[in-house]
Amino acid sequence: MAKKQFKTESKKLLDMMVNSIYTHKEIFLRELISNASDAIDKLYFRSLTDDTVALKQNDYEIRITADKEARTLTISDNGCGMTQEELENNLGTIAKSGSFDFKNNPENGNGENIDIIGQFGVGFYSAFMVADKITVSSRVYGADVAYCWESSGADGYTVNECNKESAGTVIVLQIKEDTEDEKYSEYLEEYKLRSLVKKYSDYIRYPIRMFVENSKLKEGTENEYETVKEDITLNSMIPIWKKASSEVTDEEYASFYKDKFFDFEDPLRIIRQKTEGTANFEALMFIPSHAPFDYYSKDFEKGLQLYSSGVLIMDKCKELLPDYFSFVRGLVDSSDLSLNISRELLQHDRQLRVIAKALEKKIASELSKMLSSDREEYEKFFKAFGAQLKWGVYEGYGRNKELLQDLIMFKSSAEEKYVTLKEYTDRMREEQKAIYYASGDTEARIALLPQVESVVNHGFEVLYLTEDIDEFAISMLAKYADKEFVNVCNENLDLSTDEEKEALKNENEKAEEMFGFIKESLGDCVSAVRFTNTIGSHAVCLANEGMLSLGMEKVLNKMPGASENAMKAEIVLEINFKHPIAAKLSELFKNDKEKLASYSRILFANARLISGLEIDNPAELSELICNLMI
Ligand code: ADP
Repeated sequence: MAKKQFKTESKKLLDMMVNSIYTHKEIFLRELISNASDAIDKLYFRSLTDDTVALKQNDYEIRITADKEARTLTISDNGCGMTQEELENNLGTIAKSGSFDFKNNPENGNGENIDIIGQFGVGFYSAFMVADKITVSSRVYGADVAYCWESSGADGYTVNECNKESAGTVIVLQIKEDTEDEKYSEYLEEYKLRSLVKKYSDYIRYPIRMFVENSKLKEGTENEYETVKEDITLNSMIPIWKKASSEVTDEEYASFYKDKFFDFEDPLRIIRQKTEGTANFEALMFIPSHAPFDYYSKDFEKGLQLYSSGVLIMDKCKELLPDYFSFVRGLVDSSDLSLNISRELLQHDRQLRVIAKALEKKIASELSKMLSSDREEYEKFFKAFGAQLKWGVYEGYGRNKELLQDLIMFKSSAEEKYVTLKEYTDRMREEQKAIYYASGDTEARIALLPQVESVVNHGFEVLYLTEDIDEFAISMLAKYADKEFVNVCNENLDLSTDEEKEALKNENEKAEEMFGFIKESLGDCVSAVRFTNTIGSHAVCLANEGMLSLGMEKVLNKMPGASENAMKAEIVLEINFKHPIAAKLSELFKNDKEKLASYSRILFANARLISGLEIDNPAELSELICNLMI
């Protein structure tokens, strides 16, 4: 077949690989072995349900062969193989995820940024860091013909029919010539290959075999040695999670994590759990240091890998993780589960539920430990995944709030940092009756709300709710440490003295008629108009009546399909009766109702702006103000 071109992104990536800007070239071997192991997994899976696959668990192997003279390194497997189409699609395109936009990252730096290997499934291409030419011969199990993919890098690739006796894939790398900086020949050396397999691929569950030359005492002699070829297995095949934690370094765990879960950054936390008794399992879990790009989209799938006595039976078992811990990556290996258990059966498996419960507890306790022992790390975690925990508080009518309420944090008026609810209530002043909060787009905007200013001036701390989910979570919590949560913009909050309250009541009664007029001139925009005590020196504000706050209204109406049945918070226009504007309004009520109607609209628009809300008719507002000016 004629040479085909790589897709554009692939080509760029290839260029990078060929020019080897990545410093850890040696990882190519790990990538190829990992692909081989996946391919065997696939065939093995098939064999569980397909009788025509006659291989047994012990028949599978990955083989490495180095030929120094020909400068070739061969990695072969007897896994599922690839069809002609698959060869083209899998090896001709990178970034199948589609969200990896190479253009966003123009030149992709000169090294550090190239840690995209593994992140977007570009593993195979890494082989071009050490090879001038790559030949992949592959035959699908049960197929009659084999195909061979060949490429020398960026100028394209060919796929042709070829001879291959058995099923599986053989990858031949034509190793580059040595340069001053790089001794590529190393990758043809037995010791180097052995150490690379040990370093990166020791846990691979299939044997990685290689013929090695050993010097042995010749039989029947005492000092005559001969060189014999021996077929040895390079990897221990003991999965990393089966090893005692004292035998595994954090670095090894991290590299396992990155390799297996396609991350380019070390995990924030490694969680190991081993349980015997009612449930028998080992779990190795990781808390990523950042949210995957699709985490907050509907494409994201949660779940842990599920193994039954070392054999992978499911890649993403979602039953093992509650939604609020969906960010956890990792695996569970249990001897309690049957190998052939189907997805449907698993859902109802009692044992699985016992395991999930234990994992949930463990994750919560690890997070709590992290919060108390490493605040900085926890805040990093919280920035990435905190919204998910808050969602967990809200979800299911708050049935998980006990578990989660001490793991969530908010910004507050007291300091720039996050505070936990416990920290807030621990430092509450004795006379403070409730936990105060306010919501808005940013902390700075919330701080400027008249009501917030007033509560803060009374010496109380106010939690700043900036995330969409915050107010919903708080409303589900309702109380913490027996203290109620109170929105400072709620009409019921009045921190003034009894006399002040009495005075306000009188003022309100006197102005009832005027408020009726103002309300009417505002149409049905507000449910009431009244004087307030609670906004210091500010003239006006909006207060909330009822369950739905302005913040919640905003969030709900942002949701898809919301416009048809828009939710409306009941709002009250509050006017500071100590502000000169109050006297002005009374005067206009007596003498100039038309002007009062215009003023009311201006005041209402101002109050909306202060609350971070849009105004329906900015042109009208501008007109009204201009009329005042001329
Ligand atoms: P990733 O492994 O991250 O998906 P790669 O570029 O390493 O990305 O490989 C692309 C695809 O090519 C794999 O997903 C797999 O479908 C296929 N592939 C690679 N190596 C093999 C192999 N040895 N046997 C069968 N399929 C393979």
